[in-house]
Amino acid sequence: MIPTPRRALLAALLLFPLAACSTRPPVAEEEEGPPPDLPPLPAVRRIVLAHVKSGEMVDVIYFHNDTYDPRAMQQIDHLLRDRRTGQVGRIDPLLMDFMFDLLQRTGLPPTTVVQVTDGFRSPGTNTDLMRNNPNAARESYHLQGRAMDFKVPLLPGAALGEIAKTMQRGGAAFYPTTGHTHIDTGPNRTWKTR
Ligand SMILES: [Zn+2]
Repeated sequence: MIPTPRRALLAALLLFPLAACSTRPPVAEEEEGPPPDLPPLPAVRRIVLAHVKSGEMVDVIYFHNDTYDPRAMQQIDHLLRDRRTGQVGRIDPLLMDFMFDLLQRTGLPPTTVVQVTDGFRSPGTNTDLMRNNPNAARESYHLQGRAMDFKVPLLPGAALGEIAKTMQRGGAAFYPTTGHTHIDTGPNRTWKTR
């Protein structure tokens, strides 16, 4: 558990991002850690996602009655589809929990709009990306519907990335060039970005 209040944690990260980095235990790349001791999430979970380029929006309660809502997940699948081919993949519900928990830890309400830039990628789209972007290979979890790239307008991406890296929910990285943060439900890890 984090001993400090969430807002204080966020403030600390905003003010001293490098200090926050250096006090974290080193994360071995591609390491599957022990089963994480995750804090429980609320019994009802809402998420608001907007696709940056198209302006499409989904505002759903994706978890309630002890289960992930199939209709809500379908709407999320559709929003996070491969925008190049139109192919709809199945999004890992745990990716939504990662996002929900991340917002919760920043102190922002679940009604906060998450601006999504990329979700599911078909193999062809990922191959295309790899020609121009060396990070695409590291981001293969997009192919399995287990990754998303996003921005939250109220928060600096660097702070989001730093918090996500501490959460033991998967991979996370912040890209300063584009200003987006990547999260995925693969092994707990991060990597160098530009
Ligand atoms: Zn990504």
